[in-house]
Amino acid sequence: YLLATHGLTKQFGHHKAVDHVDLHVKKGSIYGIIGRNGAGKTTFLKMISGLSQPTSGEIEMFGYKNAQLKNVRSRISCLIESPGLYGNMSAYDNLAVKCRLFGINDKRYIENILKTVGLSNVGKKKTKHFSLGMKQRLGIGMALVGEPDLLLLDEPINGLDPEGIVEFRSILLELNRQRETTILISSHILSELSNIATHYGFLDQGRMLEQVSAGRLSEKCRACL
Ligand code: ATP
Repeated sequence: YLLATHGLTKQFGHHKAVDHVDLHVKKGSIYGIIGRNGAGKTTFLKMISGLSQPTSGEIEMFGYKNAQLKNVRSRISCLIESPGLYGNMSAYDNLAVKCRLFGINDKRYIENILKTVGLSNVGKKKTKHFSLGMKQRLGIGMALVGEPDLLLLDEPINGLDPEGIVEFRSILLELNRQRETTILISSHILSELSNIATHYGFLDQGRMLEQVSAGRLSEKCRACL
């Protein structure tokens, strides 16, 4: 597995937001974490990304765990909650700032990312004037800088219109197929991920109820008809 958690737990006071979760993500998969509001999806992804420390349990990524995880954090990228953008700057300039942090100074690299996320034609428009869908696309673009091997996306489809959802799915599929990026994506609606996810994990009140491959899930659904 590219990513595995063992008994991962996050407690706030007496409340376990994530409760002994064992999750297994294979390299090259698109893994959908499904759960209603408050199920613990964001808390879980924050622990994986390193934004929050687990109360207990273990995270294993790319074969590393515990203190060694710092060696591989640079291989992951995340879009959790809203993308952090400079509102007074264009999409290009926002990407240029992030690229500089990665030591990348290449106009074509930025233009390629803009193309990948469908923002080639936004010109100098300031991102504060972007629609929600455009901001989400740019958020993905920002997350792509440095070619992460693992992409963490927290409810990125929230608020997109149906056309935006379709385009967003195809961006993720392309990344997954062409760059072999493994994607861990959360949603509270199963059908939003139904055309792209290869595996699902169902989270409820912090607990992982079931993990299943997309194929197995369709078999189960057919058996229920
Ligand atoms: P949503 O779909 O609404 O974003 P979620 O599945 O992402 O929900 P989380 O945001 O992870 O859920 O929250 C899980 C639980 O943990 C909730 O009950 C929430 O109130 C609680 N929680 C999250 N962060 C904190 C915090 N910093 N302090 C206290 N409680 C928190």
